[in-house]
Amino acid sequence: MEQHRYQVVITDCDHGSIEEEKDEFGRMGAALILAQVQKEEDLIRVCKEADGLVNQYALLTRKVLENLPKCKVVSRYGVGVDSVDLKAATDFGIIVANVPDYCMDEVANQTVSMILTLVRKTAFFDKKVKSGQWDFHLGIPIYRTKGKTLGLIGCGRIGLEVAKRMSAFGVKVIAFDPYLEKASEGVDLIDFDTVLKESDFISIHCPLNDSTRHLIGDEALKKMKKKPIIINTSRGPIIDEKALIKALEKGFISGVGLDVLEKEPPDSQNPLLKMDNVILSPHVGFYSVESISELKRRTAKNVIDVLMGRWPRSVVNREVVGKTRASIPA
Ligand code: NAD
Repeated sequence: MEQHRYQVVITDCDHGSIEEEKDEFGRMGAALILAQVQKEEDLIRVCKEADGLVNQYALLTRKVLENLPKCKVVSRYGVGVDSVDLKAATDFGIIVANVPDYCMDEVANQTVSMILTLVRKTAFFDKKVKSGQWDFHLGIPIYRTKGKTLGLIGCGRIGLEVAKRMSAFGVKVIAFDPYLEKASEGVDLIDFDTVLKESDFISIHCPLNDSTRHLIGDEALKKMKKKPIIINTSRGPIIDEKALIKALEKGFISGVGLDVLEKEPPDSQNPLLKMDNVILSPHVGFYSVESISELKRRTAKNVIDVLMGRWPRSVVNREVVGKTRASIPA
């Protein structure tokens, strides 16, 4: 039997294939096991000899991690690491890594395509033409994009990609981002209320946390003076959906594009499903064949980096520096 220096276990994944992972780990000569387990006792059983783990949803609790004496790294597919007890991982010297930036292009394109679809009323006209109504008057007025203002709520990786794309359409970009000291070229950083007041398009790109939950609610919606188009490709609960529906019904908002909802999938009674000036997609922003392939390779590379004595590109539990089980210089 072939002897491997390292063993890596994929605890679980729903990607359909692990070709990229096989390729990456195969090149470093590691044995790769796809476990597809969720229960604590199963995780402990299949991972106890593992030098590294790749993880999607299976919960890596303190009990699991304390029973994995050889494990030096857990790499999570994607951004969130809710499945891993970070404090326990740090206590045991296990590096937790993630891949926060595999789909910036996809989410930025999703956002821009939603803005343009609403501006040009493409989805609306498509429905009309297919139902036998060939009449552009049904969709007027339509306004020019050039010269309008886009307000970003959050101007990190994705927000900035959206800014670049929309600038090419002759749109002025302003942004509210309390954690940025300096904006990137082409983006004016200003306060929240001014973004709400001056924007023709408002696009949300901040994370969901206690301070952003329902950030766009009754009060914020009332401050939007230009009947804007609102896009959310970030996380559903950042918008108070009830307040949004009320504002749409009153005509305070021109259109809405949502890739994310407060409840996914939505109830069949959700009024947003019936509104002509609302376009929805099923939380698909992250997805393309290429982004998933990149995600799989980079998730694997995080593990390989650690086993080869290098820090991976994105470490979530920075506190582990200095006490890691892996032989990596601090
Ligand atoms: P990022 O961390 O690069 O940028 C987020 C920005 O939001 C940061 O600049 C941060 O300073 C800012 N921010 C934090 N709190 C804020 C607040 N209260 N108000 C305004 N700005 C605030 O993240 P990113 O890669 O640009 O991703 C943005 C979001 O997109 C993620 O949090 C995630 O929820 C979402 N996302 C969605 C999909 C999808 O499939 N639809 C895919 C990937 C990411």
